[in-house]
Amino acid sequence: MTDGRHARMNVIPAITIDGPAGSGKSTLGERLARALGWLYFDTGVMYRALTLAAIERAVALDDPVALEHLAEALVIDVRPPEVADGRQYTVCADGIDVTWSLRRSDVEQRISHVAAHPEVRRVMRARQRQIGLRGRVVMVGRDIGSVVMPDAALKIYLVASIDERARRRLQERIARGQPAELAAIRDDIARRDELDRHVMQPAHDAVQLSSEGCSPDELVDRVMHLFSHPTSSAVPS
Ligand code: C5P
Repeated sequence: MTDGRHARMNVIPAITIDGPAGSGKSTLGERLARALGWLYFDTGVMYRALTLAAIERAVALDDPVALEHLAEALVIDVRPPEVADGRQYTVCADGIDVTWSLRRSDVEQRISHVAAHPEVRRVMRARQRQIGLRGRVVMVGRDIGSVVMPDAALKIYLVASIDERARRRLQERIARGQPAELAAIRDDIARRDELDRHVMQPAHDAVQLSSEGCSPDELVDRVMHLFSHPTSSAVPS
């Protein structure tokens, strides 16, 4: 990975943040979007909404054609939060609010299998790119800088150790009043890392940052600096 923030033609005013589960992408993405007055778009919710719909409609998760049809037909709507219950956004699938159902453990366990199908990714990526091309958006995911928005103005690849990522997930679950056990969460993240290896595609010109030992505010400052000084190599630490 290089620090390749070169001047390019047709650059879209967008920031992409890719990285593994629990690396802090959504916290960073939401804060950046707020600071810039841009849209925050977490692409993981699209794969989550599809996985939830497949489970509830008994669509076989190993049937790429059936999943592709479901992906094409499912209307996924992501809007600003409509309920003050700690959510970052409201997600509706075919008109039903599924915001919290997307975090269910049966969805977490199956999502990487659903997201692995190239047929599913083709549909999702096309929709994501449509939104990205409008610009003024912070997009978070696994393959956004490399595949969905290679023409984004700034691409971040965010990392943190697995122990740190597991601790964060534990805190999130406790805050939501969900059952939480560190060892099980760590195992789940390790399993998802392994499955997501195939979809994780850091852009060759992404800037790699670690969220470990760095407060959310500091991280936002660093990315804002990178964004407003695109040719600068001096990044405050
Ligand atoms: O980011 P989040 O944990 O919500 O993503 C859930 C899952 O969705 C990931 O583990 C991955 O399997 C899939 N995903 C993906 N491509 C993206 C975003 C998420 O394959 N751009």
